[in-house]
Amino acid sequence: MRVFNKIYCDFDGTITKKDAVNTFFEMYADPKWLEYEDLWVQGKITSRENAVKQVALIREVSQKELDDYIDNIEIDDYFLEFIDYIKSKNIEFTILSDGFDLFINKTLERFDIKNISVYANHLIYENNKFRIEFPYYNDKCDIGAGMCKCGRILEDKYCYIGDGTSDLCVAKKADFLFATKNLHKFCKANLIKHSYFNSFRNIIEVLQSV
Ligand SMILES: [Mg+2]
Ligand SMILES: [Zn+2]
Repeated sequence: MRVFNKIYCDFDGTITKKDAVNTFFEMYADPKWLEYEDLWVQGKITSRENAVKQVALIREVSQKELDDYIDNIEIDDYFLEFIDYIKSKNIEFTILSDGFDLFINKTLERFDIKNISVYANHLIYENNKFRIEFPYYNDKCDIGAGMCKCGRILEDKYCYIGDGTSDLCVAKKADFLFATKNLHKFCKANLIKHSYFNSFRNIIEVLQSV
């Protein structure tokens, strides 16, 4: 099926077991980051505004702390098997994330996953401090995302895999949607057609069956 030639996928909470951005803030940011998170969830600020405010609340972090943190980001138990599977089928796979490119690229490197396109916000670490840039910001984005997922998808038919709020606009338009956690709940409540997954094992099974 043509829809499965191209798969787009979220990173935090989808490929990773926990949201690597929020877990980082829990450990290294002033607790005030949660107030901005609430404002974002309520739709009072955009995700880009939220990211700028939250990154500014990160305290100084040493290179060792940062490396240790990134080295311990856990991924889905079947993600590597999934990558092998899609490579064997020549399926194109792209990560679209409103999280941090630094965490994503280092995690892919650690598991020796190559040749995957990654679009995410650019986290810069210098002199123990952080700042964020938005190379994929789109001022026409429906949800004011830092990394605009809707503007990144050019195919008319695509498959999407995701878990949360940053996935909403692209998930609704996907021709085939795999959803978990909050995105699954949202889709269930709003009668949006999707396939629930608990791990990438479930996704491999569906892809094998079509
Ligand atoms: Mg997510
Ligand atoms: Zn967008």
